[in-house]
Amino acid sequence: MSKEVIIIGGGIIGLSSAFYLQDAGYKVTVLDTTDMQQGCSYGNAGYVCPSHFVPLATPGIIKQGLKWMLNAKSPFYVQPRLSGELISWGLKFMKSATKEHVERSAIPLRDIALLSKQLYESWAQLPGMDFAYEPKGMLELFKTAENAHHAEHTLKDALALGLDTRLLNKAELQAMEPGADIDAIGALYFAGDAQLYPNKLMQCLLNWLQQKGVRLIGSQEVTGFITEGRVLKGVKTANQQYPADHVVLAAGVWSSAVAKQLNLRLPMVGGRGYSVTYEDAPYKVHHSIILSEARVAISPMDGNKIRFGGTMEITGVNAPPRMQRVQGILESVKRYFPAYDIPMPAADKVWYGYRPCSADGLPYIGNVQQYTNLTIATGHSMLGISLGAGTGKLVSELVQGIPASMDITPFHPQRG
Ligand SMILES: Cc1cc2nc3c(=O)[nH]c(=O)nc-3n(C[C@H](O)[C@H](O)[C@H](O)COP(=O)(O)OP(=O)(O)OC[C@H]3O[C@@H](n4cnc5c(N)ncnc54)[C@H](O)[C@@H]3O)c2cc1C
Repeated sequence: MSKEVIIIGGGIIGLSSAFYLQDAGYKVTVLDTTDMQQGCSYGNAGYVCPSHFVPLATPGIIKQGLKWMLNAKSPFYVQPRLSGELISWGLKFMKSATKEHVERSAIPLRDIALLSKQLYESWAQLPGMDFAYEPKGMLELFKTAENAHHAEHTLKDALALGLDTRLLNKAELQAMEPGADIDAIGALYFAGDAQLYPNKLMQCLLNWLQQKGVRLIGSQEVTGFITEGRVLKGVKTANQQYPADHVVLAAGVWSSAVAKQLNLRLPMVGGRGYSVTYEDAPYKVHHSIILSEARVAISPMDGNKIRFGGTMEITGVNAPPRMQRVQGILESVKRYFPAYDIPMPAADKVWYGYRPCSADGLPYIGNVQQYTNLTIATGHSMLGISLGAGTGKLVSELVQGIPASMDITPFHPQRG
């Protein structure tokens, strides 16, 4: 009889894990508080980006972050709160903001992104899996001499990691985007990056899993566990108990609270970001674009759509959205694309989601010492889509107890 795996959370990480676990012959059930039709895995920028080999915590970020915090429209904000967890996360974040940590993180982040990209390419060949996957590279625009200098360093590091990357001057950049009038002095072009349409990816995955017999159960918030010593026998929701041979915790930013029920610590905070999406809009670009000084992402998606997204707002998951941050995103776009006057959308057209941010910028993927049959997969911060398929594969290998496709030691959930 096949073994029963319960996955807590139906975001990209939970569904990717379900994909590979079902394929490996397990009987899989995904439980989610919501109907799995919303949340962080939907309104994001859709970048599959091996180019993002630098974690959020970098040596300059604290000084820059403090400056940004004084501006309501800036890309970064920490809502001051008297929270022991936030303070402890902040201290760990500061401890990680070193050159050595950035250097140590580059290879693991590159490898899991490349694994993931290769898997997305294989998914895109499957029947019914049209999620607008486009391997057309990504442009990172810069306007200032300081960021031009920074781009030279990034170029050197990216080439050392074997990533096909080019530095473009203004004319070369303009030639890549002939239809738009760009106000920037140059760009990095990451030729190996790709773009997908996350809303379609999630829908394709849900359909695929349903057809394969995976049980997808919404309105089921996991509130506790059935344990016998070091073994999890199942999970509990308000009205049900689900027996399990193995449990995968992939509940995004909420994973910390769920882990607490098992006396496990997963230091994480919610990094709220916003996006707005337009169909058939006059704002046209061919490539996925990052505006480096503004930390804004522009994603041309699915043929006729364009999505503008950004901001990293460390805040509670129940705090009301701050529309000034959306205004900040749209005003930044105009600074690089002066012809694009994007009006502020109505509040109901603004999407926001909570990135599950680990303190050191690396995901938590692995089993834990305290339980024999629990796998953790969360903490992907800004990279959950990019690393999603690869994480799913690694989770399936961990559950099966077979060698992993790559070295996952740096992602251990109980690393120091
Ligand atoms: C503006 C923005 C742009 C982004 N752009 C990109 C990008 O271009 N590329 C990229 O790689 N990443 C990007 N990200 C990050 C990416 O969206 C996230 O890393 C990713 O969606 C996290 O996926 P997840 O499955 O871990 O969490 P989620 O998508 O949050 O899923 C977790 C699920 O668990 C469920 N859950 C929670 N608690 C429980 C419980 N107790 N019981 C049952 N279910 C529970 C929730 O309802 C939720 O459905 C972006 C994020 C934002 C905000």
